[in-house]
Amino acid sequence: MSKTPSPKIIIAIDGYSACGKSTLAKDLSKKLGYAYIDTGAMYRAVTLFFLRNEVDFDSKTAVATALNKITIGFVNVKGKNRTLLNGEDVEEEIRKMYVSQKVSPVATISAVRRAMVAQQQKMGEQKGVILDGRDIGTVVFPKAELKLFITASPDIRTQRRFEEVQAKNQVSTFEEIKANLLERDHIDSSRADSPLKQASDAVVIDNSNLSKQEQLGMVKALVKERIKQVKKSSKR
Ligand code: C5P
Repeated sequence: MSKTPSPKIIIAIDGYSACGKSTLAKDLSKKLGYAYIDTGAMYRAVTLFFLRNEVDFDSKTAVATALNKITIGFVNVKGKNRTLLNGEDVEEEIRKMYVSQKVSPVATISAVRRAMVAQQQKMGEQKGVILDGRDIGTVVFPKAELKLFITASPDIRTQRRFEEVQAKNQVSTFEEIKANLLERDHIDSSRADSPLKQASDAVVIDNSNLSKQEQLGMVKALVKERIKQVKKSSKR
């Protein structure tokens, strides 16, 4: 008798800024052969477009007109995820501090969120996807089979981001990075539209004292368990 293939699930990873969500999502996507959707990169790409084109964030008409001119995509180049804004590879540019400083205000705009959420839901409808962001388990895929909420202490998050920034030879101080992370956490958690919050059915992981491998091991076990449950319930 042939073995039934494993059902594909949706994995939603939410949490605070720079707590390693994307590293976990990327590692997991390689292990599982799932697509990875970096939703933060989408908000960053919109922000970059707004900044380059001097879009007035407070004008609903200007925001709507700009959104109509934006197409965001992802490509995999040599095993690495790259974000495309209207076909241009903006992967490096969207990680720079001037974009980080404006992305959270842009992400409070409901029209921006509606446009991004619709695209994310379309990208994930076939399942077999991992999305990381702030509202994935609460708004984008409230029925995701596995929801994770990741956290880590602010100093540990800052140190990790500081090391990443230094490796790219970008100039930002530890204090500047910490202030940006805390400010984004504050705006993201207190905004009216889809604030960052833990879904009631999310598994919380504080990775302050976990290695990447330890965290990945824990999550792989959770994935295995969920897939088993989905398989079981589909046989009923
Ligand atoms: O994940 P990353 O730190 O790159 O996200 C950048 C910003 O995009 C966040 O600080 C937040 O303001 C916004 N964002 C969001 N909803 C998501 C993903 C990111 O509001 N699903």
